[in-house]
Amino acid sequence: MDNMHLQLYNTLTRRKEVFTPLHDGRVGMYVCGPTVYGKAHLGHARPAVTFDLLFRYLTHIGYKVRYVRNITDVGHLVNDADEGEDKIARKARLEQLEPMEVVQQYTNDYHDAMHQLNVLSPGIEPRATGHIIEQIAMVSRILDAGYAYVSNGSVYFDVEKYAKNHPYGQLSGRNIDDLRTNTRDLDGQHEKRSPLDFAIWKRASPEHIMKWPSPWGEGFPGWHIECTAMGCKYLGEQFDIHGGGMDLVFPHHEAEIAQATAAFGHDAVRYWLHNNMITLNGQKMGKSLGNAIALDDFFAGNHLLLERPYPPMTIRFFILTAHYRSTLDFSNEALQSAEKGMERLLTAVNTLETLPLAEQSTVDVAALRDRCYEAMNDDMNTPVALSHLFEGVRMINSIADGKDSITAADRDALRQLFHTFVFDLFGLLPLDRSDRNLPAFQGAVELLLDLRQKAKAAKDWTSADHIRNELQRLGFDIKDTKDGVSWELKP
Ligand code: ZN
Repeated sequence: MDNMHLQLYNTLTRRKEVFTPLHDGRVGMYVCGPTVYGKAHLGHARPAVTFDLLFRYLTHIGYKVRYVRNITDVGHLVNDADEGEDKIARKARLEQLEPMEVVQQYTNDYHDAMHQLNVLSPGIEPRATGHIIEQIAMVSRILDAGYAYVSNGSVYFDVEKYAKNHPYGQLSGRNIDDLRTNTRDLDGQHEKRSPLDFAIWKRASPEHIMKWPSPWGEGFPGWHIECTAMGCKYLGEQFDIHGGGMDLVFPHHEAEIAQATAAFGHDAVRYWLHNNMITLNGQKMGKSLGNAIALDDFFAGNHLLLERPYPPMTIRFFILTAHYRSTLDFSNEALQSAEKGMERLLTAVNTLETLPLAEQSTVDVAALRDRCYEAMNDDMNTPVALSHLFEGVRMINSIADGKDSITAADRDALRQLFHTFVFDLFGLLPLDRSDRNLPAFQGAVELLLDLRQKAKAAKDWTSADHIRNELQRLGFDIKDTKDGVSWELKP
């Protein structure tokens, strides 16, 4: 396979690098999963599809991938208004639910949406609340290394001290002096030595529901520490790929690098990969903007901004029409045109089966295949790979029209190329042909019943009974009425 040439853009080094895993033939990949604070929305779809594609491609080119995608289910303080109570705890209190019931509802909703988008499940899906012991151990380790301090029952990462000995801000391209002047983090300001410091363990106020005992008192882990702790538990102190949305670069991933470096003496991650963000009609998405559309509302068309429903495969295909590091603007127009393109692609997969075969090919399938893999190896350039596949579509249609010809061997190679890219890698589902097949199916049953009537008319009872018995055996309910024969397929 062409895995020797896979290049991935590393956010940390800001260039494409040839991907070479730490261990021969095996890849460790950690992706920041959803924060299950609400229903799965459009913003969840892009990282899920992007890293699903990478997981599928790495597996396809022969790696055994250990794919970890976490669930952030401890609510985290986001601003002063939330001081003392996290989002899950608040909903649990208001609706008189156990916090884990809230978490489970949203987790189920996320899984359901991912299933519809044909996003494969990760190999391990650890929950932050299920790894409190590991997070406490990681906090202790950072304290022991001297890069954190305890203050009023909370533990803070000492960014100033860390920055004296290590580069801080490399991933996001921020500089510590700019951060000092521009950071106005009021959360825990009286307890922190510097506004840049972040909590790795937070003391819980008495009304806080989700809290755990720790060496520093009752509390809950800071958000950034969960990924360092769970990544280390399942993938080791060094692993190949860490992915997530670009919005996580700062502070989340920057903090992860600092935590790992403080605890292990080096960053845990070799390749940092980030997908760009989604906009909606040119606008950033957000709950406050009223355009963070839930995925099931997208699938059902239940939103003022949507002209009609968009099936999960349309969303998935649309995401793949852009390179994962480019922004992607969702609009009715763009989605509808993507859908047309996808139908053309899927129709060609069916046309492939009906192509006339020839002694000689006038098309170059091997060259097309090489170009498709070249595009994928170039930092998963799906729009370019798609443009080559559409070249294949033109090839297929031209053969069907008799303007080009193809041998059986080339047709098989073309079929394999299309099935690999369209279904295995891009994860699209074949066109649903059941509706289209219904008239043919009905016609065939009517034909058999017609033959039975003819046999009866000719007093060929053996044939007539044979047809009826066989149809009944296949699950058809056949009734002779005074108007003729009625039939239905028993459920
Ligand atoms: Zn994370």
